[in-house]
Amino acid sequence: MKNQFIVDDVIISSNRIDYKYTVKGELKEIFNEKESFFVEYSRNILNIPKSIAIVPLMCNILPIIWLFNAEVHIKSCDEDFYNSIEDFKKGYIKMYPDLEFKGKVCVEKLEKNSISESNGSICFFSGGVDAFNTLLNHLKENVTVLTLWGADLTLNDNDGWNNVLKHLEKTANDFKIDYITIKSNLKDFYNVKKLNEKINLIKKEWWHDFQHGIGVISYAAPISFLTKKQSVYFASSFTAKDIGQYTCASDPTIDNYLKFCDVKVIHDGYEFTRQDKVHNIVEFCRKNNKKIELRVCWESTGGKNCCHCEKCYRTMLALFAEGEDPKNYGFDYTKKLLKKIRYCQDKRFTYKKYEEIQSSMRKNCNINDLPKEIRWFYKINIKKLGCNKIYKILGKIKRKIKKIFKL
Ligand SMILES: [Zn+2]
Repeated sequence: MKNQFIVDDVIISSNRIDYKYTVKGELKEIFNEKESFFVEYSRNILNIPKSIAIVPLMCNILPIIWLFNAEVHIKSCDEDFYNSIEDFKKGYIKMYPDLEFKGKVCVEKLEKNSISESNGSICFFSGGVDAFNTLLNHLKENVTVLTLWGADLTLNDNDGWNNVLKHLEKTANDFKIDYITIKSNLKDFYNVKKLNEKINLIKKEWWHDFQHGIGVISYAAPISFLTKKQSVYFASSFTAKDIGQYTCASDPTIDNYLKFCDVKVIHDGYEFTRQDKVHNIVEFCRKNNKKIELRVCWESTGGKNCCHCEKCYRTMLALFAEGEDPKNYGFDYTKKLLKKIRYCQDKRFTYKKYEEIQSSMRKNCNINDLPKEIRWFYKINIKKLGCNKIYKILGKIKRKIKKIFKL
């Protein structure tokens, strides 16, 4: 049987969009039968046309449609969005030349939706280094900030979300900007195991490598139409210097080609390295006498920085390298935790990610002004970072003991 995804209805009710669809063929196994895709906004969106309301669903299924050579049938679609599909698809084709991106989008009616005059910009905001860099760079553009629940945090992590929300409210208050939250089951409406099997050939991960760029940005479509915002910024995590060394669903070759209702999407901050971004944030705080709490952590489910995962370590060292105390940026570390950085066993603890931090530290800091616990980092031959065999063996033993005693 042909692979088909037929959208039967798009139901818009005050602040929520529900999608009713029928899936046929092999594709049926991919989608969760019990849970249809939905999105909820913290604002009333009742007045948006269905041709715009379809955009979030489309962006979250299109990579699936292409890889399964399926047909998607929809009743109406925003013309700009429809015309942009082939353009951002090219970004995927170029990024994953070993896969075939086929499929077909069948639309009954195309609609032109226009925003007559622009009323500012939209920034996606997660609270980390990339997001703050983007927000601060566009602060003067009458920014509305969008934060999504359902991507980094699961929909059942209420405590985590409450912390994110508090952080968001504080940031919006500090900078006097408007914010809207979004809740969606974008990671729960499909079978991720099956999708990862489909891309097993190239050893990639569905969310990171296929979904999260256009999948997330698409939620801005209803909001930009309603608030008349003609630019949407999505912060880059990689940098132009890394071209050819990574794959990622969020990339200038993909994100910048996505369009809807006259809106321009910008994959923002790609020209900056992570250290440049930390520098920009620190400079902003110094110039404007502002305090910023970064939220970068990978490990903490409570929405606060744990101060002992690789990402926390990296950001804390980057802040020290700019002559700042991470305590002033949301890292409530102890001396004991700082000491542990040296013995980090995470496979991401590789010198390439730390090279620039060390050179900035050497340029900006006097070793004696740094805490004793991290002076080794200033001095170390950076290529040896994370390579110490003894630490690795000790780490292995420690993990085994933890496993045996179920610690
Ligand atoms: Zn952490």
